[in-house]
Amino acid sequence: MNPTENNITQANIKICSLASGSNGNAYYIATDTEAILVDCGISYKQIIGRAKSRGVDLRQVKAVFITHEHSDHVRGMRVFCQNFKADCYMTKGTALKCKAFYMPVVPPKAIHYNESVTVGAFTVHCFEKSHDVEEPCSFRVEVGGLNIGVFTDIGCSCQGLCDNLEKCHVAFLESNYDEAMLWAGKYPAYLKQRVASDEGHLSNVQAADIVRAVNPPHLHTLILSHLSADNNRPQIALKAFAEFADRYKIMHASRYEAGEVFYVTETGCSSKPKPIVIPDRLDRPEPKI
Ligand SMILES: [Zn+2]
Ligand SMILES: [Zn+2]
Repeated sequence: MNPTENNITQANIKICSLASGSNGNAYYIATDTEAILVDCGISYKQIIGRAKSRGVDLRQVKAVFITHEHSDHVRGMRVFCQNFKADCYMTKGTALKCKAFYMPVVPPKAIHYNESVTVGAFTVHCFEKSHDVEEPCSFRVEVGGLNIGVFTDIGCSCQGLCDNLEKCHVAFLESNYDEAMLWAGKYPAYLKQRVASDEGHLSNVQAADIVRAVNPPHLHTLILSHLSADNNRPQIALKAFAEFADRYKIMHASRYEAGEVFYVTETGCSSKPKPIVIPDRLDRPEPKI
């Protein structure tokens, strides 16, 4: 790819968190002409409404990649895939354990750990994560020379997470709970143990520790994701990442509404696409003075 083509491609890569948290997850990654979703965990009606609120064209979605079978990741999958004729990818373990009424009518395609699948302009890398389900995975999406990671529902760090985060320009990274809020909160003891276990979720401190340890050289945007409604607050999560504020753009993904659509380049994220530079036409008439 020559540098000009690369610039054009990168100017048009977009991301949007349509939903993030235990109510549902759906992360949209797109070029101007095609898109994929990572997870489809809100209802069809909700995803349509949220996409519309941000001008996201779901007709461009070619495939949905599912991280695991918990309902907050698969709730809208069946109807979405059917109505948009989108392919669905998941591990065999996820397919085995997913409730039948969430499963797409067209059987999903299998994806395996340490395998990459190409859909249009997207190469989606799949790797293992630690979570209390059959065969959970995370995805790093490579498009136009950029890497966008979606890393949620992770009990503890692992080599796969570190290796993939290291390659990212943008990462949706789980920052699920504040430890003090979890332990003082209203969850029953077994649920507190589950959340904090190595197969549960990442706390704010754990997530920040991972970023510090990996120190990803290309990372410019960190979107704190899957925040607990009971055991976290956006301000508390963001505070845990304060030390990175001068290096990365840091924000949180909402559970209540779709996030902004961001255009991603190698150096940053912006709300507006790069202006298209139209070269001067040689045959333009001289201005009359
Ligand atoms: Zn979840
Ligand atoms: Zn889960």
